[in-house]
Amino acid sequence: MTAPSFATLALSPQMQANLQRLGYLEMTAIQAASLPAALLGKDIIAQAKTGSGKTAAFALALLANLNTRRFAVQSLVLCPTRELADQVTAEIRRLARAEDNIKVVTLCGGVPLRGQLATLEHGAHVVVGTPGRVMDHLERGSLRLDALNTLVLDEADRMLDMGFLDDIATVARQCPPERQTLLFSATYPEGIAKLAAQFMRSPLAVKVEAQH
Ligand code: ADP
Ligand code: MG
Repeated sequence: MTAPSFATLALSPQMQANLQRLGYLEMTAIQAASLPAALLGKDIIAQAKTGSGKTAAFALALLANLNTRRFAVQSLVLCPTRELADQVTAEIRRLARAEDNIKVVTLCGGVPLRGQLATLEHGAHVVVGTPGRVMDHLERGSLRLDALNTLVLDEADRMLDMGFLDDIATVARQCPPERQTLLFSATYPEGIAKLAAQFMRSPLAVKVEAQH
């Protein structure tokens, strides 16, 4: 079976060119299964093993939802760890290179608040962070989510394992209800279904089995 090309997607010509420059020619299986619906604005629960290209799947969706002329946080990606948040930030920046001046800010625990507060004062389009620290900023008023259009829960199974459910719930309640929510996970424990039922609107579930 031939893997579908990114050219079949309704992405801007600049993004198509950038994907080519990055050597992203064919979609991975989870990208092919999730991106067409994600680009139509649907909520998605996507399950696929590590290394299957889940980051680009949600990054392309959130970038497509961005209005760069509006300098407000429009996308929030929650990740379980600082290391993963840094990787996601790097991938979004790589994919966003062709777009004009998209500012991505990383907000993780274990990093002094002061620098993050200063960075946030200058504004951002996209925030990537861990649930606890993102919640700290919401409580302080240094982060506002009223312009948010895309909420991503990355590695949702790990976030639940680490006890982040209450923090995720608090953050999700502060997002506008008409946002798009994308949930990515390597496994599908029962807690994920509960999380989805609470925070997602008629999500489409897509699963890619491990390939041999
Ligand atoms: P996951 O989140 O599923 O563990 P990643 O998003 O980290 O996987 O992707 C794994 C690797 O695959 C990364 O190095 C990424 O740059 C690369 N990658 C993702 N999508 C594609 C694609 N369509 N073509 C080529 N490489 C890709
Ligand atoms: Mg990942």
